[in-house]
Amino acid sequence: MRETSETTILLIGGTGQNGATLLSRLLAGVPGFVPIGELGFLWDRAIQGNLPCGCGVPFHECPFWGAVGQAAFGGWEKVDAAEAVRLRGRVLSRRRHRHMSLPLTLPLMAWPALSGPYRESLMRYAELVRRVYEGVRAVSGARVIVDSTKVPGHGFTLWNAGEVDLRVTHLVRDSRGVAFSNLRSVPRQSTIDGRAYRGRHAPARTAARWIWINLAYELLAALGAPVETVRYEDLVRDPRGELARIAAFAGAPTDPSTLQFLRDGEVEFPVAHLVAGNRVRLVSGRTRIRADEEWRVSLPPRQQRVVLAMTWPLTLRYRRRAARGRASGGGTHRAAAS
Ligand SMILES: [Zn+2]
Repeated sequence: MRETSETTILLIGGTGQNGATLLSRLLAGVPGFVPIGELGFLWDRAIQGNLPCGCGVPFHECPFWGAVGQAAFGGWEKVDAAEAVRLRGRVLSRRRHRHMSLPLTLPLMAWPALSGPYRESLMRYAELVRRVYEGVRAVSGARVIVDSTKVPGHGFTLWNAGEVDLRVTHLVRDSRGVAFSNLRSVPRQSTIDGRAYRGRHAPARTAARWIWINLAYELLAALGAPVETVRYEDLVRDPRGELARIAAFAGAPTDPSTLQFLRDGEVEFPVAHLVAGNRVRLVSGRTRIRADEEWRVSLPPRQQRVVLAMTWPLTLRYRRRAARGRASGGGTHRAAAS
């Protein structure tokens, strides 16, 4: 049992549009780290939908994932992907009105013993996920597997199932930046769920969701899970410093000077086999890392004020936590800091 115990699972959590795909691609350059994208969507977007892997070829043509499927299940055709999607729906509560479902299902996610059927679904789903991790470990020899399934339910599931060595990087982006990204209509990479464009959401709705998702990670930390906060704005300003901090938190410290793929604020993205995630997954060549702060000029001031009025307590908390971390030379690991 616990075959993955020598491998750490680093989960990137947080809201949508928080830079998780960028962070995953940067971590691909850190020795021992193997990012795999949003594993929670492997079942429908990859196994069923055959969307392109981060390496550029369709999922079922990717040699890496082919080997992982063999190692984990004896081939992906042995996996009942539809059943996995059903279990995921029960555990993560991605229902039609999912913007309302998090406050309602958070108690169950945090304390699954409240419901026998919920706990049973959770254990079955966690077992599927754990087998994929084990396959990734067997194929890649990773010391740290990076899973960027950001939705809180995924983190609670892994924590409550207790079968893996879990660390959570809680990636927080300015709520106004997230609100502006959610106003834009972006073409999806597929119409697998019948929508050609990513949905647009009003800023107040994004703000409410931003609060609940971030509170969910505060709760996960309060339950004892190792959770560390990283701000998107700090990551793009000082990628080397933040990657080194994350690597140390994941138990695989690295010397920042060895991160040669990062130079002069530019990055040569290493190849990474990311399943699901946004378009940053497929960008190649040399890319300048800079903060996406178009919201400062393009989100109307009135809407900026609405979003900030709703989210300022947590925003202030994360700013102060980051400043404390810098002052103490890193380590805003919540369990130790608060
Ligand atoms: Zn691939």
